[in-house]
Amino acid sequence: MDHVKHLKCLICGAEYGPDEIEYVCPKHGDDGIVDVRYDYELIGRRISPTTLAEDRNYTIWRYRPLLPIRPDSPVPPLTVGWTPLYRADRLAASLGLKHVWVKDEGRQPSASLKDRASSIAVVKAREWGAEVITTSSTGNAGAALSALCASVGQKNVIFVPESAPPAKIAQLLVYGSTVILVRGTYDDAFALCAQAAKEFGWFNRNTGYNPYMSEGKKTVSYEICEQLTAQVEAHGRAPLHWHAPDRIFVSVGDGCIIGGVHKGLKDLLALGWIEKMPKIMGVQAAGSAALYDAWRAGISALEMKPIAAHTIADSISAGLPADRIKALAAVRETGGAYVKVTDEEILAAIPALARGCGVFAEPAGAAAYAGLVKAVEQGLVHPDERIVVLATGNGLKDIASARKSVGEPLVVEKDLAAVKQALAK
Ligand SMILES: *Cc1c(COP(=O)(O)O)cnc(C)c1O
Ligand SMILES: [Zn+2]
Repeated sequence: MDHVKHLKCLICGAEYGPDEIEYVCPKHGDDGIVDVRYDYELIGRRISPTTLAEDRNYTIWRYRPLLPIRPDSPVPPLTVGWTPLYRADRLAASLGLKHVWVKDEGRQPSASLKDRASSIAVVKAREWGAEVITTSSTGNAGAALSALCASVGQKNVIFVPESAPPAKIAQLLVYGSTVILVRGTYDDAFALCAQAAKEFGWFNRNTGYNPYMSEGKKTVSYEICEQLTAQVEAHGRAPLHWHAPDRIFVSVGDGCIIGGVHKGLKDLLALGWIEKMPKIMGVQAAGSAALYDAWRAGISALEMKPIAAHTIADSISAGLPADRIKALAAVRETGGAYVKVTDEEILAAIPALARGCGVFAEPAGAAAYAGLVKAVEQGLVHPDERIVVLATGNGLKDIASARKSVGEPLVVEKDLAAVKQALAK
C-alpha cells in the first residue's frame, strides 16, 4: 500500500500510518473519523485517462490504484460498479433544463450503491484476517455486505432496525447472513453493532466509523466523469482529461455517499484529470434533515445534536448522521447546497423519474430527483448546467412505498368487451 500516505483525523488533524490505527483517531472515542490520504504523484504514474480508455475491466476494480487495498489482495467476484449513466432529455425538458443524466445504482448486484463500499469492506477484512464482518444498516448496507460476503463465503452478522422494508430483510436472509433485528431505530442498531464488534473482535463496516467505506463509494464519481466524457466527446480518441458535470444531486442519510462523491472528485482534481469541482447538492427528507438544518444554521458537524428521524425513505433516515463531518464539507467546500423534500415529494418523484427516463428507484433514490425538482423551483440551478442525479437504490427494494406513489391497475373480467369498457373509462 505504498500509495496510501496516511490516515488523517478530520477533527484534530493528527496523521497516522495506514497500519497504526484500525478505524478512528483514538483521541475522540468512536467519533474520530479519519480520511485516507494518497500519494497522487505515484498513482498518476500507474493509471491515467489514457490507460483507462484501453481497460476492459468494467467494474470498480478498474480504479484499483486509487483504492486503499494491497496490490495483491483478491477481490470478490460479483460485478460491482460501471452502472449506466443515462442521458434523460425528457426529464430535463420537463424541468426547463438542457442536460440531465441519471446514474442507475439500482443495477448493482444487491441493487444499491452500497455494494461499492461493501466490496472494499470484504477485501479489508480479509487483509486483516478477520473471521466475521459486521455492520448495522437501514437495510441496503447490510444487503450489500451480505451479498459480497456470500460471493466469497465470508461469515457476517447484520444489525437492522425491525422497521426495515421486508425486501431488504429477505435479501439478508437469502444470502445467509446472521440477521439481528433490533427493536429500535437505525441509530440504536448502529450503537449495538459497534459494541458487539468490540466485544467479539469482528471487522466493523459501520458507516462514518470505518474510513474505507467512503473510499469505495467514491468510485461513483470516477465513473460519472469517465462516462460523461465518453458521451460528450463525439470522436473516439482516448481523452487526456475528463469532463466533470456542473452539479451532482445526492440523497443524504448518514452522509457517507455524499462524502464519497466529494472524495472521488477531489482525487480527480488532485490528479489533474478534471479541471473544476462540481457543486454537490445534498438532498434530505424533511423528517430527517439534521444536515440540512446544520448547513442552514452554519454550525459545525461537532455541534450537531441528534434528532428523531421519520421518513418513508428508510435509507436516508438518520437521527445523528454518522458521517456528518464529510457530509457538511462536501456541500460547503464545493459551493453546493442542501435541500429538503417532503415524503409526498419523494413519493411523487418515484413515478416521475420512472416515466421520465425508465429508472425505477426506491424512495431514497428518487429523493435525489425530488431534490432537483426543488432546486429548480428555488432557482438554484441554471438551465445550461450539466446535472447528474444519483438514483442510489432499486425501486423493487420497497414495493409498499412504490404502490403508494401510483394509482391502481384496471381490473377486468376475462373477455375483450370488458377490456374495451375499462379502456374507455
Ligand atoms: C444508504 C443510502 C442512501 C444514503 O447514504 P448515506 O451514506 O447514508 O448518506 C441513499 N440512498 C440509498 C438507496 C441508500 O441505500
Ligand atoms: Zn483526532
